[in-house]
Amino acid sequence: MTQEMVGNADGGRRGHAQRPAGGGGRQRLPHRKVRVASAQRLSEHLVELVVEGELDGWQAAGAGGHFKVFVPDQAGGQAMRTYTVRRFDADAGRLAIDFALHDEGPAAAFARTAAVGDEFEISGLSRPGFELGGDSEWIVLIADLSALPAVCAIAESLPAGLPAMALVEAPDQQLAIASDAALVVRWLEAGQEPCQRLAEAALALALPEGPGEVWVGCEAAAMRTIRRHLLGDLGLPAQRVHTRAYWKRGVAGHSDHDTGADADGGPGRVEPGGAGTPPVLAADAASAHSEGGRHE
Ligand SMILES: Cc1cc2nc3c(=O)[nH]c(=O)nc-3n(C[C@H](O)[C@H](O)[C@H](O)COP(=O)(O)OP(=O)(O)OC[C@H]3O[C@@H](n4cnc5c(N)ncnc54)[C@H](O)[C@@H]3O)c2cc1C
Repeated sequence: MTQEMVGNADGGRRGHAQRPAGGGGRQRLPHRKVRVASAQRLSEHLVELVVEGELDGWQAAGAGGHFKVFVPDQAGGQAMRTYTVRRFDADAGRLAIDFALHDEGPAAAFARTAAVGDEFEISGLSRPGFELGGDSEWIVLIADLSALPAVCAIAESLPAGLPAMALVEAPDQQLAIASDAALVVRWLEAGQEPCQRLAEAALALALPEGPGEVWVGCEAAAMRTIRRHLLGDLGLPAQRVHTRAYWKRGVAGHSDHDTGADADGGPGRVEPGGAGTPPVLAADAASAHSEGGRHE
């Protein structure tokens, strides 16, 4: 079991000036203290915390970038977890974070009971989010509830009319996903195993012709199954496939670096199987009707 339980990695507050990177040349910025300005249940299993506080100069590039939250754990320390920039209004100094309320875990527990005025910390910077490739003619987003905030942020960033599909396994199926794209949303009910239905549906998807992108965020094992299919069975180019484990079954604080690339035959290597196998031709995914789907 891996667990990232940390205090302030910088050992205290230092104001907001950058300090030289420690080993590896990576910049570490002091944490920012934030407090809950509003807590709103978006659905039974999703709560949105809007926070304010030390957000001056905090940056969020791209759609659905991620950062760390530091919340109390049961042992009286801090647990570090990864969350998505759902919305960031630099002028107003407000950051919205949507928390999935799964059964266990300090972050979910914190969000479940969070009230206006509660304080916690976030990392000094956020990692850049998704940017659509200039020649992409379509996009498919595959996600569970934990990655739904990223899907919502990406959907809001897509160009008008772009053929887009979101395949989402979530217990809450009444959430609106706003987009100017020609977005079709297909909701899947969770089965017995987390993300099993999501993986099955992803493997059965018929992708549109032409250059496009597939973005995947879900449980680690399901993500690998989907990634293998996209790269191996369909032979999609690796640069058009964006996969990341958002959590791992039975593991607390799973790494946010898990893209599944380790299963491709070596770091960063991708071995498209079935050489020359083209993507499955499809009726335009964006023209298919979704069951129970909804978008704005
Ligand atoms: C780039 C990135 C962005 C993310 N953005 C968001 C976001 O915006 N909103 C969000 O809700 N989550 C997001 N996540 C997922 C979140 O970081 C994990 O779910 C995290 O494990 C939650 O921490 P916790 O303290 O609640 O549970 P942990 O202490 O990490 O885990 C406790 C137990 O709960 C299980 N568990 C963890 N997460 C889930 C889950 N989602 N569903 C079911 N069981 C789970 C674990 O397997 C473990 O057994 C993101 C992850 C990544 C990598």
